[in-house]
Amino acid sequence: MTAFPARCDTLVTNGHVLTMDDAFTAIRDGAVAISKGRIAAIGPMAEAAGVAARAVIDARGGIVLPGFVNTHCHAAMVLFRGLADDRPLDGFLKAVWAAEAAHVTPETVRAGAALGLAEMALGGVTHVVDMYFHPDATVDAARHVGIGLTAGPVFIGFDGIDHLPWPERLRFAEAFVTRHRGTEGLDLMLMPHSAYTLDAAQLAEVTALSERLGVPVHIHAAEAPSEMALVAARHGTTPVRALDRAGMIRPGTLLAHAVHLDDAEIALLAERGVAMAHCPLSNAKLASGAARLCDLRSAGAVTSLGTDGAASGNDLDMFRTMRLAAQMAILASGAPDALPARDVVAMATREGARAAGLGARKGRLTAGMDADLIVVDLSSPHLIPSYDPYSSLVYAAGRSDVAHVMARGRPIVADRRIVADVTSDIAAVRAVASSISASALRA
Ligand SMILES: [Zn+2]
Repeated sequence: MTAFPARCDTLVTNGHVLTMDDAFTAIRDGAVAISKGRIAAIGPMAEAAGVAARAVIDARGGIVLPGFVNTHCHAAMVLFRGLADDRPLDGFLKAVWAAEAAHVTPETVRAGAALGLAEMALGGVTHVVDMYFHPDATVDAARHVGIGLTAGPVFIGFDGIDHLPWPERLRFAEAFVTRHRGTEGLDLMLMPHSAYTLDAAQLAEVTALSERLGVPVHIHAAEAPSEMALVAARHGTTPVRALDRAGMIRPGTLLAHAVHLDDAEIALLAERGVAMAHCPLSNAKLASGAARLCDLRSAGAVTSLGTDGAASGNDLDMFRTMRLAAQMAILASGAPDALPARDVVAMATREGARAAGLGARKGRLTAGMDADLIVVDLSSPHLIPSYDPYSSLVYAAGRSDVAHVMARGRPIVADRRIVADVTSDIAAVRAVASSISASALRA
């Protein structure tokens, strides 16, 4: 462990620090020193006694851990939260695509994303992989909230609600990557929607662009039975095999959902270093299916957690996502030790960072890493006693227990309040929602 410096920007004190390193090193009465946006040192409180800090965050015996990495989201879709419940993926998409066609503009994406990102920050998320139209608007919202973002151009086989015909879509994608490469707090991925909305030639074009730009791919795959049928009709095979034919099943690729996989596909994903964003909230709500999470993990695949958008899973809560991931894995396997709480917290932190290609910078509290960390307060009745911090986090805590959140060393949530002013975004989302309700009533 690195020794504490004489001075630092921020010192987090009196925490049960979970570093989430590979050995799960934890310090019961610990401190974290932060300088220039990075972790400077971690150690017992006794060793931090003389450190001069510009700001001190007292964890008051709470848990200090890396911020959650949400590896699959559509933040702006909070605009459509609760609009199309109680139906499977195909019916859900029909309703949501109609609402999107009428209401999605760069301005509404900016407002929806700001709210979605604020919701995530308040729940302990410090980095999110977000796929949505008008990604510049989400980039703008993330900068405002202060949260880390992986964004990128969306590829869909038809013109889409952003009205980009395919050749222009390719040009926009390249321009987006060029414009944002090296932007602080922003990482890039290409975001083809899925094998059911893109044909083989288009998928191959995205792979070629990804190779040429050196930017990895994030895509939905094998989410629901209806998708399996659509992909079989369009490509004559399964989604993973269709993506493999297009060259996308390779290191760096991140698949969202990956529910319906056969044994050979699981072996292939593990062997090629393809990561999976497990989205149990939306998988359960849309009856998409129970992902073969434990099989993927025992095959050696990188598995992480995503909330998906609020239109399908209805909230962007990584605590509920962790709990449901554990409970569904246990229920599906019939073994209560199928997925220990500690491993679920790892999926939400360091494995999430690895899945997003950020493992060298994020997901662990060790010297030199980005200071993306959260403080979970343990003083509420439902968290007393806390024998095992991982168990408390997965099975008892909720996002309202998140007291402080820092992203790259800057506070984005302080004393349970979002630091950024999102008042105008709230008003804008309310205005969109009332016009959606009015048009839904007319229909
Ligand atoms: Zn999705």
